[in-house]
Amino acid sequence: MQNRAEDLIKRAAIDSVDSKYAIALTGAGISTESGIPDFRGPDGIWTRHPEAEREAYEHYGELLRDPEAHWEKILEPDSIFSEFDKFGEYAPNPGHYALARLEKLGILKSTITQNADGLHQKAGSRNVIEYHGSMAKLRCMSCGSRFDRKAFDLEELKGEGQLPPRCEKCNGVLKYDGVYFREPIPSDVAHLSLEEAWKCDLMLICGTSAVVYPFASLPRTARQRRIEKERQTETGLYAVEDIQAVTIIEANADLTPLTYEKISGYLIQGRTGNVLPHIVEEVERIMVR
Ligand code: NAD
Ligand code: ZN
Repeated sequence: MQNRAEDLIKRAAIDSVDSKYAIALTGAGISTESGIPDFRGPDGIWTRHPEAEREAYEHYGELLRDPEAHWEKILEPDSIFSEFDKFGEYAPNPGHYALARLEKLGILKSTITQNADGLHQKAGSRNVIEYHGSMAKLRCMSCGSRFDRKAFDLEELKGEGQLPPRCEKCNGVLKYDGVYFREPIPSDVAHLSLEEAWKCDLMLICGTSAVVYPFASLPRTARQRRIEKERQTETGLYAVEDIQAVTIIEANADLTPLTYEKISGYLIQGRTGNVLPHIVEEVERIMVR
């Protein structure tokens, strides 16, 4: 690893140890080293299949118009949704384990992820907010209840002409918990995430292009916060400074709008599976001192 990256890793470790309430924000990039392609990276699903992206924008409207037809379509074997059903077969990588370790060490208070693959929990992270839901669950469009996807035999429902699946509490239509394009973020995760962004004094952003909204507004919200800090001057007088309340660090393969617009304080450019374990190593070195 280059010297500059090494210096920044040390800086990130010091900032992490000094923080009182650190949170992580993650995107599809943290799961690419587990074998799940991202959307917009060089091998991303949208980069390779732009038509699939255009189609994805139609799913939510189709679901609202005709839930039965939508469910029949997404249960076709060549549907992109059959890929999502395979998420359970993937294993976490060193990037996921590093964040779980930071949580265990008491540094990371929560991980807000855009991923719907469940790999943070599999790696041992306990406080995970799934901003874009989970493909292992179904969610009621009326009351918001979530159910284990495996509890439903969707093929059987299809064969019996019983689609869409229905909520056992209110009989509302169920959809995948994974948030579709154009679908509002479920209010519970939206509120929790905003609270975390307001509360944190360190935000570690990992493997995201930071172009999907409203997720990408969380660092911007955090960046707006400023605090007044009293500082003793050389003359013995006190001055009150207005300083940023949050340290924002990016661990990303590529530069993002957060880098260009200086929302993040610094970018450690590289793979999360490499960068994050190095940060943890440094953190542990500092903590045993
Ligand atoms: P994105 O595809 O828009 O961007 C991923 C970013 O991560 C890219 O900038 C890429 O350069 C970078 N990256 C790729 N591999 C990396 C690595 N090993 N280390 C560091 N950076 C790496 O992803 P996004 O920002 O999360 O937004 C896309 C949307 O797609 C999200 O809403 C997400 O829910 C969804 N998605 C989820 C999964 C999943 O659950 N694993 C997979 C694909 C897409
Ligand atoms: Zn319901």
